[in-house]
Amino acid sequence: MTFQVPIKLSSRNPGDSYPHNLQLYRNVPFGEITLEELQEISETRLKVLSLVERIHLQKPTMSLSQRRIALVEELHKQGLAEFGSLIKNSGCKSCTDMDIRVRRRDHISHFMLRSTVAFNESKKRWFFKQEARLFKWRFSSLDNEGIRQFMCINNFNFSPISQNEKENIREHLHMSSLNVSDVDNTQFYRIPFFHIANLIRKRKVLVLQGEAFVPEQEMAFVFVSYFRRILISNFEVAREARANLYNDERFTHIFAYLENNILTQNTVLVREQEMQQYISLDKLDQLAETSYPLCMRVLHKALRKNHHLTHGGRIQYCLFLKGMGLSLSDAMTFWKDEFMKIMDDTAFKEHMYYIRFNYGKEGSRRDYQPYKCQRILESIVGPRDYHGCPFKHMLHDTLEEQLTDCDFNASERSAIMKLSKNGQYFAACNKYYEIKHDCLNDTLFEHPNIYFNESMKHRTAYHHGEIYLILYISNNLLFCINFKIILKLKIRKQEMHFNHQNQNI
Ligand code: SF4
Repeated sequence: MTFQVPIKLSSRNPGDSYPHNLQLYRNVPFGEITLEELQEISETRLKVLSLVERIHLQKPTMSLSQRRIALVEELHKQGLAEFGSLIKNSGCKSCTDMDIRVRRRDHISHFMLRSTVAFNESKKRWFFKQEARLFKWRFSSLDNEGIRQFMCINNFNFSPISQNEKENIREHLHMSSLNVSDVDNTQFYRIPFFHIANLIRKRKVLVLQGEAFVPEQEMAFVFVSYFRRILISNFEVAREARANLYNDERFTHIFAYLENNILTQNTVLVREQEMQQYISLDKLDQLAETSYPLCMRVLHKALRKNHHLTHGGRIQYCLFLKGMGLSLSDAMTFWKDEFMKIMDDTAFKEHMYYIRFNYGKEGSRRDYQPYKCQRILESIVGPRDYHGCPFKHMLHDTLEEQLTDCDFNASERSAIMKLSKNGQYFAACNKYYEIKHDCLNDTLFEHPNIYFNESMKHRTAYHHGEIYLILYISNNLLFCINFKIILKLKIRKQEMHFNHQNQNI
């Protein structure tokens, strides 16, 4: 289909409006664009956002900059180098016609996608998450000049501290910024503490007299929360824009295509080499305790105890394991070891078929995806079943027993039970995660495999932090006593799940 009708978006000249590669998209785009180009750039942005989600899911243990590099590589591989050119050092040194054109296309495509998802809650959430991630990764590519220009253009007056000030608080900066290896050559910005609640909660920055000292590496976190607020407040405008174009046939094709191709969290939860070291048959019992959401922990324990699960439980758990990265041959071994304790070879053959079926090796040979929470919540569950979502389907007494089995204390159990009784199943699951991981988590899980991936990411990142801390302590005897106390408490809470890494310590 070819669109050639130019769309007039506004009469202003775009020349001066795009001084920087990174934008907050506060203003509505202007100028003219053909429908053909509009369609092309919107589809491109959708591909970019899908890539962002894919890399996020694939590489849970990677740092921000590693993910950004992975994204740029993928963009080049997929012929989307133009978008890749927006992710580079200063972001503002060059301002050629080509730069302005690319930035403008970025701006317009963001608005197109924003309008597309404006009336659909789950697609809106998906868009919101990917855009915030993309913004954070792009911001992390900026050098000091790029950050300075970005702040200047957007009227932020956070100032970098002088060398003298840095000298005065050098020790504190060393202690508080564990991710910074070279304090001397790192720029620190002075920022009022209320802008960076997240970083303070994660104890990543030094706070003195109401001001936080944020290293350049963490500045992305400062602005991403600001960017999120802009996105939320601008959805109303996007809804209006979409409503105004509702009967315009020139746009309905584009919106329909985009809407149909946003696969919120249906993306295959792909596994990577780095995760595989933590996932193997002999680690499943351990992972069920540390990183499974409760629905899967219940299924795993029931299978181990009864050597059997009913049909719904087998599918729910088998697909979850597939999403975790368990190979077909390992899955076969796992299920066979359990089932053969209560059945013979002939009976197992039928189950073998369904396991292969789930892996796309039998029947329709479709690549079946692990169930999302919504689907699990809609399961029909009988008295002999262990599948479904325990926060919705389990009897209250049984749920409480499960939580006791997780070593949760009375107040932790009661917080979860209250949410579950109120029908706030996602919030109950999130509370379960927070207690298990001793952290605060502000995004609710909508997929058991996302829960699992986030848990793995949290535990590996947390653990690496501890290794670093121990090395740091050994060089700083002065702080040894205080830090050892904190460390002991944290180790007890987290139970130090990765044994081979313990040995490294
Ligand atoms: Fe599992 Fe989702 Fe229920 Fe959590 S909310 S227990 S992940 S189904």
